[in-house]
Amino acid sequence: MRQSQLFAPTLKEEPTEAEIISHKLMLRAGMLRKIAGGIYTFLPLGFRVLKKVENIVRQEMNAVGAQELLMPVLQPSELWQKSGRWYAYGQEMMRMKDRHQRDFALGPTHEELITHLASEIRSYKELPKILYQIQVKFRDEVRPRFGVMRSREFIMKDAYSFHADQNSLDETYQKMHKAYSRIVERCGLSYRAVKAATGLIGGAVSEEFQVLAETGEDTIIYCPKCSYAANIEMASSRWWHLLEPDETLAAREKIHTPGKSSVEDVAKLLGVPKSKLVKTLIYQVDDNRLVAVLIPGHKNLNPTKLARILETEFEMLEEEEFSKRGLAFGFVGPIDLSNDLSNIEIIADHSLKKMRNFVTGANQKDYHWINSNVERDFLIDKWADLVFAEENEPCSECGKGQLKVMQGIEVGQIFQLGTKYSEKMGGTFIDQNGKTKPFVMGCYGIGVSRLVAAAIEQLSDEYGIIWPMSIAPYQVHLLLVGKEDKLKQNAEEIYESLLEAKVEALYDDRQISPGIKFSEADLIGIPLQVIIGKKFLNESKLEVKERRTNKRVTIEPDKLIKWIKNKIEHV
Ligand code: ATP
Ligand code: MG
Repeated sequence: MRQSQLFAPTLKEEPTEAEIISHKLMLRAGMLRKIAGGIYTFLPLGFRVLKKVENIVRQEMNAVGAQELLMPVLQPSELWQKSGRWYAYGQEMMRMKDRHQRDFALGPTHEELITHLASEIRSYKELPKILYQIQVKFRDEVRPRFGVMRSREFIMKDAYSFHADQNSLDETYQKMHKAYSRIVERCGLSYRAVKAATGLIGGAVSEEFQVLAETGEDTIIYCPKCSYAANIEMASSRWWHLLEPDETLAAREKIHTPGKSSVEDVAKLLGVPKSKLVKTLIYQVDDNRLVAVLIPGHKNLNPTKLARILETEFEMLEEEEFSKRGLAFGFVGPIDLSNDLSNIEIIADHSLKKMRNFVTGANQKDYHWINSNVERDFLIDKWADLVFAEENEPCSECGKGQLKVMQGIEVGQIFQLGTKYSEKMGGTFIDQNGKTKPFVMGCYGIGVSRLVAAAIEQLSDEYGIIWPMSIAPYQVHLLLVGKEDKLKQNAEEIYESLLEAKVEALYDDRQISPGIKFSEADLIGIPLQVIIGKKFLNESKLEVKERRTNKRVTIEPDKLIKWIKNKIEHV
């Protein structure tokens, strides 16, 4: 491609609309333009990268026997009603009516459509099957931001697998895990696969593929001693195993704590550490159901973990609701909590098993109990892991390592769905014994457009993008530097020879200042820059600069192609 013809409007100034480096650089390098909040056009350079990522994904999917198809973006509500997600999905799903007033949505994901389709698989003999597509998804994100990192319209590869039993799903899940690892490796990125929560998609087992980057929106907890790694939404630790509780239960006593309802204030007033308190958080699950969640005073509730336990939506009880339910706002505690107005289920964090003689609200304005104890003073309905794991706590898997924290960009997620969708949507087959059974399913998503941004987030410097060879928009950037006819003529010849050798080359044939040429080349970030300029006039030699290392070598023109071919293979 001749740069004189390329449509890549580069920007000199930092775009003010962008917060993170990948977004800034994609705008500056003329790869991306915003159309509306979370809606973007990929310009030719950006599109080439997108296609490269897409091809890597496609090759790896085909290699595990997945078959490509294409489902529509626009989906009828009926299928979503069958799965129950028409209501459960919430506002992220963009809904609309057609001219006949029928409900449709822009697909945020495609489990419903594919399960409906897979009902045409009749016998166990046709299983397993893996189907995938590379398609536009639409999610009306609350906060679209960071360019294509979190956009409303984006490209996802989504695969779905159908199995006769769990063993077969396990096998495919492992294959997909490997394929996902290869995809991210082939894109030249460092990453980590982590245990993940399943959110709106559902299912029991799930992992995310996180590209490591400081600006990543996800927090990952990992153990340096073993292979444990989990999204903070899921991560647990063994901090409470180390607690050594008092053996003797002290007499419980009601203490006047006027106006002191926060953990900090009560701890200060009583002269005890925050860990001596138990917080009682009241959540409304639905109109009739309240739950009290008990966690130690110095820990924070992890809402994702609570969501897994409650299996439905919930919110904190509004302040004005407390008195209506006979509860003392700011002074609620687990002892004598249920009353004539409310029957409240008590869910407690496992760590309370090791806590003795702690402080709790007394269910009376301005009073707390000291020396409260589980069993002697109140009972727990359900034990659960409810708090965030924190840095330096002991690993929940090996118990030896101290957990560490890092940031990641979720580029992909794989799920074992089980029979969640197939049962609801009539996705069944006839098994070996002639019995009708629901498919056991898996689903596997990877954000193709997000991967492009994630790559830049990981690979750039103060001058611009540093593309890995595998996904670079072009492999070679040929820069003509000088006005002499001899240069121009030779540059044309070199360009032709690159094309002939099937090297993807961008040829900067423009008559602009060398300074601009070099800085734009660094900004766009093509891995190899071939410079034909002064050195050619003086010594008939070319200069090649490797963008990543900034190393320069001098090469005779007739050795260029071989050298480049070798580099492309080994970079
Ligand atoms: P996130 O937690 O970042 O919102 P998600 O967990 O909702 O993502 P999945 O349903 O797991 O996303 O979708 C599979 C992949 O699609 C994600 O791993 C991510 O790479 C990509 N993806 C999801 N939402 C977006 C978005 N708004 N913009 C770009 N890519 C996205
Ligand atoms: Mg996800």
